[in-house]
Amino acid sequence: MDGALMDGAFAASLAQICGADSVITDPQQLRTYECDGLTAHRSTPGLVVLPRTAEQVAAIVRECAARGIPFVARGSGTGLSGGALPRTDGVLIVMSTMRSIIAIDAASHRAIVEPGVTNLSVSKAAEPYGLFYAPDPSSQVVCSVGGNVAENSGGAHCLKHGFTVHHVVGLEIVTPAGELTWLGDGTGAAPGYDLVGAFTGSEGTLGIVTKIVVKLTPIPEAVTTLLAAFTTMGAGGAAVSSIIGSGILPAAIEMMDALAIEAAEAAVHCCYPEGAGAVLIVELDGPAADVEAQTEAVRQISTATGAYEIRAAQNAAERAAIWTGRKSAFAAVGRISPAYIVQDGVVPRTALPAVLDRISELSAETGIRVANVFHAGDGNLHPLVLFDDTVPGEQEAAEKVSGMILDLCIEHGGSITGEHGVGVDKSRYLPRMFSADDLDTMQLLRCAFDPAGICNPGKIFPTPRLCGEVPGVRHAPHPLVASGVIDQF
Ligand SMILES: Cc1cc2nc3c(=O)[nH]c(=O)nc-3n(C[C@H](O)[C@H](O)[C@H](O)COP(=O)(O)OP(=O)(O)OC[C@H]3O[C@@H](n4cnc5c(N)ncnc54)[C@H](O)[C@@H]3O)c2cc1C
Repeated sequence: MDGALMDGAFAASLAQICGADSVITDPQQLRTYECDGLTAHRSTPGLVVLPRTAEQVAAIVRECAARGIPFVARGSGTGLSGGALPRTDGVLIVMSTMRSIIAIDAASHRAIVEPGVTNLSVSKAAEPYGLFYAPDPSSQVVCSVGGNVAENSGGAHCLKHGFTVHHVVGLEIVTPAGELTWLGDGTGAAPGYDLVGAFTGSEGTLGIVTKIVVKLTPIPEAVTTLLAAFTTMGAGGAAVSSIIGSGILPAAIEMMDALAIEAAEAAVHCCYPEGAGAVLIVELDGPAADVEAQTEAVRQISTATGAYEIRAAQNAAERAAIWTGRKSAFAAVGRISPAYIVQDGVVPRTALPAVLDRISELSAETGIRVANVFHAGDGNLHPLVLFDDTVPGEQEAAEKVSGMILDLCIEHGGSITGEHGVGVDKSRYLPRMFSADDLDTMQLLRCAFDPAGICNPGKIFPTPRLCGEVPGVRHAPHPLVASGVIDQF
C-alpha cells in the first residue's frame, strides 16, 4: 500500500461510507484480487472496497477524486485482458456485492439490474416471462453484467442476436468525479450523442456502472443444433462462408480444429466424429417453419462443402452434449499443454481460410502448437497458443506467435480484439491498428469523462496522455494557454 496516499484516515473514511467489514486492507486478503482471468499480469491492490449501493460507490469515488487516488472497478474478475488489474497505489472497487435484479418489465421487454448480477441469472429471471438476455459469453455463469458492459462482451449467439451494446439501453453511472447520473433513457432511441454506446466497451475507463437497463428477447419458438465434421479447416471455413452467403443467419456458428477437439475429448469425452480435422456447430433459432427450412439448407451446404458426417440434436440433452465440447475447450486445453495463451482477434469471414492456413504455417515454422476454437460466424478467432512454461524460452516464443497472429488479423482488415478487450495486455498492439492521431482523438473522449485520469488508468492506451495535452502538440502548451487567453481542462 502506498502510505502517502492510503493512510489509515483514507481507509477509515471508506469504512464510514460502507462499513468496516466492506473495506479490505489485510495484505493476504488483498492478494485474492491481484489479477483477473489473465493471470500473467498481477498487482496487489492498495485497498479493496465492496460497496452495496450506488450512493456508496459515488461517495467512494468522491473520496478518491478528492485525494487523486486512482481506482479500478472489478466485476467477477473473469476478464481476459487484464482490464480489472488493480494498482498498488489505488483502490479496487468490487461490484460483485451489488447483484440484485431490480425489475423485470415483461411488457416492455426490459430489465433493470445491478452490475454485479451474473449474466446467466438475468436469463433465468426472465425465463418465466418467455424472455431471455441474449448476449451469452461462455463465462456467463460467473461473469457480471457490469463487466459485460465494460467489455462489450459477445458470445456464441451474438452472430444473430448482437453484442452487449445492442442490448443495453440505459446506464446509471458514477462519473470519475463521483457524480451519480444516467446515460440513455431506456428506449435505446434517445436524441443526442449515444453516450450509452460510447460507455459500453470503454473497459472501465469512463466511470463505474451502478445500474443497467437491458433489453430482453423472446425465447425462440424452435431451435436446432447441428454438428458437422470436415476433414480440413479449409472445408469448414468454406461451409461458414457459404451458409452466410446463402442468406441464412444462424444464431451461432462455432468451429474447432483437430487439436481443440483432441483437448475436448480428453477432458469431457464429447464423442465428436472420429478423424475430424474441423467441426462446425451450427445453431438455428426462430419460428419453427423457418428453422426447419434453414436446417435442411445448412445440411445441404455442409455436405456440398465436404462434411462427411452431420448430426442433429433431437432433444435438449443431445444439444447440451454437442455444446459440451465447445464450451469446455478453453479449459480442456490444459489437458494437452501445461500452459497456453488465449488469443482474441477478428478477421473478415471470407479471410478465414487464408488466415487459418497461415496460423498453421506459423505453428509449423516455430514448433509452437496452436489450437483453434472460435466464433466462426463473426470471424472472431480464439487461437490457443500452447507452450511449456518449464522449457526456457518457450513462453517468449509463444508470445511472439501470439503477436504474429494479431498482425495477421490486422493485415486482413480485422482487429486485435473481438470481445475480450484491450485492457493492459494488448495496449501495446493498439498503435498497430490506429495512428497517433486516432489514439489522441480517443483520449479526448476519455478526458471528457475523466480529466484527472484516475479511472482505471494504464488500460487500453499504450502511453498515458495528460488530459491537458492537445493532440499533436505533445510537449508544448498551446500558445493561447501559455499566454493565459484560454484555460485547458
Ligand atoms: C472461460 C472464459 C470464457 C470466456 N468467454 C467469453 C466469451 O465468450 N465472450 C466474451 O466476450 N468474453 C468471454 N470471457 C471474458 C470475460 O468473461 C468477459 O470479458 C466478461 O465480460 C468479464 O466480466 P467480469 O464481471 O468478470 O469483469 P471483470 O473481469 O471483473 O472486469 C472486466 C472489465 O470491466 C470493468 N468493470 C467491471 N465492472 C464494472 C462496472 N460496474 N463499471 C465499470 N467497469 C466495470 C473492469 O474495470 C475491467 O476493465 C471469458 C472468460 C473466461 C475466463
